Amino acid sequence: MKKRILIVGGVAGGASAAARLRRLDAGAEIVMLERGPFVSFANCGLPYHVSDVIADEASLTVASPQLFRERHGIEVRTGHEVVSIDAGAKTVRVRVRVVASGEEVEERYDALVLSPGASPVRPPLPGIDLPGILTLRNIPDVRKIREWIRERGVKRAIVAGAGFIGLEMVENLHAMGIEVTVLEMLPQVMPPLDAEMAWWVAEHLRAKGVTLALGDGVAAFEATESGGLAVRTAGGVRHEGDMVILSIGVRPETGLAKAAGLELGPRGGIRVDDRMRTSDPSIWAVGDAVEVVDRVSGQPALIPLAGPANRQARIAAASICGHEARFSGVQGTAICGVLGLTVAATGASEKALERAGEKDYEKVYLHPANHATYYPGASSMHLKVVYRKTDGRLLGAQAVGGEGVDKRMDVLAVFLQMGATVHDLAEAELCYAPQYGSAKDPVNIAGMAAVNALEGLSPLTHWNSPRDGALLVDVREEDEFEEGHAEEAVNLPLSGLRERWRELPAGRELHVYCGVGLRAHNAVRFLRQQGYAAWNLSGGWKSYAAAKATGKG
Ligand code: FAD
Repeated sequence: MKKRILIVGGVAGGASAAARLRRLDAGAEIVMLERGPFVSFANCGLPYHVSDVIADEASLTVASPQLFRERHGIEVRTGHEVVSIDAGAKTVRVRVRVVASGEEVEERYDALVLSPGASPVRPPLPGIDLPGILTLRNIPDVRKIREWIRERGVKRAIVAGAGFIGLEMVENLHAMGIEVTVLEMLPQVMPPLDAEMAWWVAEHLRAKGVTLALGDGVAAFEATESGGLAVRTAGGVRHEGDMVILSIGVRPETGLAKAAGLELGPRGGIRVDDRMRTSDPSIWAVGDAVEVVDRVSGQPALIPLAGPANRQARIAAASICGHEARFSGVQGTAICGVLGLTVAATGASEKALERAGEKDYEKVYLHPANHATYYPGASSMHLKVVYRKTDGRLLGAQAVGGEGVDKRMDVLAVFLQMGATVHDLAEAELCYAPQYGSAKDPVNIAGMAAVNALEGLSPLTHWNSPRDGALLVDVREEDEFEEGHAEEAVNLPLSGLRERWRELPAGRELHVYCGVGLRAHNAVRFLRQQGYAAWNLSGGWKSYAAAKATGKG
């Protein structure tokens, strides 16, 4: 008898699993059951359809049920919700509710793949069900948002939640000329980033006219007399708008798995092994609904991203068909465009390491140009790289800037995934011509700065390091110092240091900074050779000022 494989969910993980199953087993009967009206659509493109950057809805659909049937012999049933799994039966079955009629049917399987995804969080707050409080997960949702904007003539929108989806919505609403207010419970935008890196994003949003209300959670929603909506925050502030986009996170869809008795992990996702097999040997699970191993911490984590969902689906299909493949974990490599700015991260943030009680780490900040500055059009980016102090192993990176941020983050992500150290970054051979990069790429510079620190040549101090009596020395030129400097700093420009270094107090630790770190590095090297305990304040005045502006330093 033919192997019968059922797949629950027909988008990122489900559709990928179906396609690979067919490639590995030409004879299997493969049936994909999808609750909604569409399969294989690009969730990631949805925010851009709101503003017509992606104008044609059809282009969001990667493959139609017809294509699955005709090209791959895969049966797709949209409007079919799997409501229960009878895993104990000799021939295992699922009950499927036909959404349109409410009728229920049974389907037998030999192998079952769950890819039900994650649903947007809608907390039971007063007024949450008022019309105009919208979430974005699928094509019907994007239709609702577009319709609401058109029919209500939306002029002001409130985006609750400043994560990736929230900020992508900000970008698209802003592009439509809609005035946007962002509400975020944390005191920063882009929660996966460290606050001092997210500050650059917040500044950019403000400069573009977006109103930010940070550090205050949504508490209730109300209808206004003029037909709009008001959001009350926990801090008692009232914000008005014509619509609310709720993007405060997603929750794995585990109801079906839980009811079937499948084990869940400590973070609430479906527990799977490295072949994506659940606690039931005939059931595999992939995508946003499963718990993964965080590659850096080794701990279970929920990391809802399209790349991992697709790769897990590939592995589940291989496992079902008896091929050897194992999933190695997730490190949360993510990127987002925010009104012309690119924000990207991979691996652990510093705050995640702190939360985990990790002390064995060091960080380096830099603000390099994306390509040789003598070639027209160079722009600088803000980069933070976190690595283990004892052996230099890369732990995480964050970048904010323009062109070239994506390329550096991809390079750093692969290095991290391969278990590389900062020595490897320093040695990385990357492509260079003036319009693309520099002979010392930002990735190299991050590695070199970290290696110099590890080797004690130019040890690092930071905006938030204790000074413990250390003297802050600003080695920029006088005019730069006058424009802004750390309150307690003395100015001794690098250009005069070789003549004037004896003015610096002997026996006192020196924390040296310049604009971004290079002049300070030269100064530190010189001063250490004169017997001073000198440290380089990583990222220089640029990082210092940004971090102090967050109010945390
Ligand atoms: P989904 O793709 O959500 O598919 C799950 C499907 O299962 C749904 O269609 C659901 O209807 C169906 N389903 C659930 N339960 C049942 C049931 N009982 N019976 C039948 N069907 C069921 N990730 C990135 O990496 N980069 C991005 O830029 C990015 N942008 C995003 C933008 C938006 C607006 C959204 C919503 C997500 C974005 N993501 C992005 C996340 C990415 O889309 C998800 O990580 C990915 O789709 C997860 O795949 P999945 O198969 O687990 O779930």
